[in-house]
Amino acid sequence: MTRPLRARIDLAALRHNHSVARRHAGATALWCVVKANGYGHGQVRVAEALAGVADGFALLELDGAETLRAAGIRQPLLMMEGFYSEDELPQFARLRLIPVLHSPAQVRWLVDSPLLADLNEPLPVYLKLNTGMNRLGFDAADFRQALTLLRASPRVAGITLMTHFADADEPAGIARQMARFDALRGGIADMADGLPLCLANSAALLRFPEALGGAGDWARPGIMLYGCSPCPELHSAADLGLKPVMNLESEVLAVRQLATGDAVGYGSAFVAPGPMRIGIAAGGYGDGYPRHAPSGTPVMVAGRRSRLVGRVSMDKVCVDLTDLPDAGVGAPVTLWGDGAAGHLPLEEVAAAAGTISYEPLCALTARVPVVVVERAS
Ligand SMILES: *Cc1c(COP(=O)(O)O)cnc(C)c1O
Repeated sequence: MTRPLRARIDLAALRHNHSVARRHAGATALWCVVKANGYGHGQVRVAEALAGVADGFALLELDGAETLRAAGIRQPLLMMEGFYSEDELPQFARLRLIPVLHSPAQVRWLVDSPLLADLNEPLPVYLKLNTGMNRLGFDAADFRQALTLLRASPRVAGITLMTHFADADEPAGIARQMARFDALRGGIADMADGLPLCLANSAALLRFPEALGGAGDWARPGIMLYGCSPCPELHSAADLGLKPVMNLESEVLAVRQLATGDAVGYGSAFVAPGPMRIGIAAGGYGDGYPRHAPSGTPVMVAGRRSRLVGRVSMDKVCVDLTDLPDAGVGAPVTLWGDGAAGHLPLEEVAAAAGTISYEPLCALTARVPVVVVERAS
C-alpha cells in the first residue's frame, strides 16, 4: 500500500465554477486565471479542462505560456506582468502573447525595439493603471504618454485598460478605486474614451457588477474557478454555488490513547486536559498543509467534524478521535474539500491557520499524488 494522501482534482467542479463565473459576467469575456501552476491545480491540466469554454487564459510565467502553446492551447493568453526585459519580445510575438504593460520602459521596448522588427501582425496590449493598489501600473503623469506612443505604433493592434482592486473582497469595496480609474480616464478622455476595460477579479465579479462593463470588456476570475470564496467572511463558497476542485484526502495511520498531561508532537504544544484518543494522519507542511494551523483547526474524520491537536509536522497531523470511537487505522480523513470523510471548505482551514485559501492551494507540493476525476463530486 502507498502513503494514503492524495489531491483529488475534480474537473467537472472546475467547469461548473466556470459556468458560475460565466453567469455573473453577462456579456463580459473571461480571462481564466491560471498563474502559479493554476493555483496549484496544474496549469496545463486546468487550461485543457477549460479549453472548450474559456475566452482566454491569464498567467505571468513565460515558460508556462510556452508550455500551454505546446499543449495546443489556442486561446488568447494574457501575460499579467508583461515582459520583464526586452529580450522576451520575440517570444511574445511568436506565441502571440498579450502583454499587460505597467511601466514606461515596457512601452518603449514594445514600440522601439529592433527585436520586434519583423513582427508581421500587430499585438493587442493591455495598459495597467494604478488606482490605489500601488503595486504595478501607470499613474496620471505617465498614462497620457504611454497611450500616445501605443496609439501611434503600428506594432499595437488594440488597447485595453486594466486595473486591479485591493479591497474587492473587503467591506471597503471598489468605489474609491473606480473613482480614481474614472478620473484617470477622464483626464485624457480624448484618447481613453471607448477603449475596452478589464477590471474585475473574482471578488469584484461576484460583488460589484458595475466593475464588469459589457460586450468587449473582460474580467479576470481566479480563485472562484477553483471553488473557493474570494470573500469567505461575507459569502461561503456554498452560498456562491462554487464546488471545491482540489480535495486533499488522507487516512488515519495510527491511533493512540493519551492520559491526562500527555503531550502531542513537536514543542509538546498540545497537552491532553483529560484522557483522549487521537489519530495520526498522513499530510503535513511537506505536502502543502499550512504549518501554522493550530490545535482546533477543523478536519473531517469518517463523516464527522474533528480538530487538529498539536503542531503540524512535515509529514503528519494529529487529530482528535475522542468522540469518534469507531474511527481507527484506515479511517478516511478530509484535510480540505470533499472526500470520503466528508466536506470541509478550505477557507475554514485557511482562516484557522491565519491565511487565505489561495496559499495552501498554491503550496501543494510535488510529492502529493494527484488523482484527476472528471465527474462532479
Ligand atoms: C491573481 C490575479 C487575478 C485573479 O484574482 P482572484 O482573486 O483569484 O480572482 C486577477 N487579476 C490579477 C492582476 C491577478 O494578479
